[in-house]
Amino acid sequence: MAFLRTVNRCSVYKKYGSLFDHLQSSSFGKINVNQTVLKSSAASGIISENASQSQTVPQQQQPPKDPLDVSFEDHKAAFKSKTNLELIRAYVVYTLCSIEFLVDNNMKLMKLTKGILGEKLFILLMKSTFYGHFVAGEDQFKIRPVLERLRSFGVKPILDYSVEEDLSQEEAEKLEVEASVPEAGEPEIEGALKQYHVDKTFADRRYKVQSARTYFYLNEATCERNMETFIRCLEAIAENQDKCYFSLISGATYGTGITAIKLTALGRPQLLLQLSEVIMRARQYMTEIVGGEGNVLSHHISPEDLEKKFDKITDKESLRKFLKQVTYDRHGVLHLFPWSGIIDENQELSTTFRVPDLKSGRMIRLITQLSPKEEEMFRNMIRRMNTIVKAAQDMDVRIMVDAEQTYFQPAITRITLEFMRKYNKDKAIVFNTYQCYLRNALSEVTTDLEQAKRQNFYFGAKLVRGAYLEQERARAAAMGYPDPTNPNFDATTEMYHNTLSECLRRIKEFKIKGEDKKIAIMVASHNEDTVRFAIQKMKEFGIEPADKVICFGQLLAMCDYITFPLGQSGYSAYKYIPYGPVNEVLPYLSRRAHENKGVLKKIKKEKKLLAREILRRAVTGQWWYTPRGKYVPV
Ligand SMILES: Cc1cc2nc3c(=O)[nH]c(=O)nc-3n(C[C@H](O)[C@H](O)[C@H](O)COP(=O)(O)OP(=O)(O)OC[C@H]3O[C@@H](n4cnc5c(N)ncnc54)[C@H](O)[C@@H]3O)c2cc1C
Repeated sequence: MAFLRTVNRCSVYKKYGSLFDHLQSSSFGKINVNQTVLKSSAASGIISENASQSQTVPQQQQPPKDPLDVSFEDHKAAFKSKTNLELIRAYVVYTLCSIEFLVDNNMKLMKLTKGILGEKLFILLMKSTFYGHFVAGEDQFKIRPVLERLRSFGVKPILDYSVEEDLSQEEAEKLEVEASVPEAGEPEIEGALKQYHVDKTFADRRYKVQSARTYFYLNEATCERNMETFIRCLEAIAENQDKCYFSLISGATYGTGITAIKLTALGRPQLLLQLSEVIMRARQYMTEIVGGEGNVLSHHISPEDLEKKFDKITDKESLRKFLKQVTYDRHGVLHLFPWSGIIDENQELSTTFRVPDLKSGRMIRLITQLSPKEEEMFRNMIRRMNTIVKAAQDMDVRIMVDAEQTYFQPAITRITLEFMRKYNKDKAIVFNTYQCYLRNALSEVTTDLEQAKRQNFYFGAKLVRGAYLEQERARAAAMGYPDPTNPNFDATTEMYHNTLSECLRRIKEFKIKGEDKKIAIMVASHNEDTVRFAIQKMKEFGIEPADKVICFGQLLAMCDYITFPLGQSGYSAYKYIPYGPVNEVLPYLSRRAHENKGVLKKIKKEKKLLAREILRRAVTGQWWYTPRGKYVPV
């Protein structure tokens, strides 16, 4: 029902259609105001539709654009969007976040303070300090002023409803173990595939994770509620876009927002584990029968050559069925299994993942038998994802699927890619995430880019370094499988930069062919060197900010000195915006406090720039500074 509400709400055009029509026939007709403007064209996900509009807007109405200082030392540019009080609050909050005792005991202290002050005063205190600084507001309506202010300073939103369950470690472990074991029971597994099975020691997936939230599976109804929450985020973004569209009349234009989603919020983790295992087994299987390594697509084997490998298979009828479902094109086999069928036709998992076994000459299953209830749960997860992506498409909002732990990631990537194939036909609506701390990041991105090219869909990706480093390493060591992460920070940075360069190289290739929006990349990093690297490489490859295929993303209240100067100078810049009721985002705030402790160098710089800006405003008499931005996000 929420979905229907959404779609109705979103048709703002219907409500104000006559106003648009009037404007079109009046002198405003110079601006291409019609319904197609509400929906961006074959642009990448990051992209707004202002290019053609700004070309027709007279010169004097052109929005401002500042030069960019890539040393990111320009405090005036960094904090133009903040009032003096907000600057002082930020300074105080960062100072408190560097006091170890407060950080280590923050949850206890918050609960104690709430007990002493009572609910109302506590909420007031939080709103004027930590909550006010790190969180945009309580719901999709209360965050509007924050989103509007961001936009007027050239920055677009990625919304994230940040309500988290406040579970104890014991509760989390219990829930996770229960939700990760198949009904048929845990099979005995040896070697690398152990990675795709639950281990009680690491069942609390929050272990040493600060910069990402964790969903635990309670039941199907909770997943349904999570789906509705994601749709509410989409609504909030769509409303903000509509609003910005209306402000076209006063010189601004509308832009494009994103909603972040996590697949673990939409279904039982066991299914993602099993699917990940199947994907890795399929890769092992390909290696066994054709040699080489990696994704099925990377073997470049023709279906005829694949068929020749199965001479000894006795069950010819099953073999024929298997070969019939193999996906291939003129360059060779893309998939052994019909992934599109799994997404579109709810094909059963237990019957799909069967391959001819060279040793026995018979068909074998790569997945543990799933019960009818588990099959139904999987279908539910796909249905929820489909509902969200469809709603995003209808509202012209983008979806960014977060990357999570490596034992879920093969399934998350595959499902997301299939949704890209289904929905990214005219532009990138669905974005995947790649973690460059993984040793296989570049090869994964390359094969996925290849799939997008061969199946002719728009490829959208967010590149991150990765949020689960310590957990990944500890789990691999404890369970005895190879560490999937790069050996050190420099190797991760090299991987990030190589992966980004590969994306830019391909963007350039498409640009030369005149298909310039086929790949869209978000550089999601607080690392100045990486941001500078991206800017430099864009120049080298002849990719302009206005091409709107590369954008940048940072968290709200983190590295404002990077995001705002980027947005104000015409780069596509995003803030990751958490929101939710005060009491329910306390676990998020607690994580942020810990996270800040881990990025002291960045906080030190933020504090230094804040101090300089406060001083500058004091000295120049800007005691009642009111932020008024006239920037337009690209
Ligand atoms: C908009 C946005 C969206 C995000 N979405 C996701 C997501 O979907 N999934 C996800 O996992 N994370 C996500 N993150 C978090 C991200 O992965 C990083 O944890 C965080 O941004 C810190 O990395 P950095 O590049 O910003 O900063 P930096 O301080 O430059 O890098 C810190 C990161 O470097 C890596 N690193 C540090 N030491 C080592 C080492 N010894 N060996 C190898 N690698 C090392 C780790 O990944 C660590 O987090 C997101 C971040 C942002 C800003």
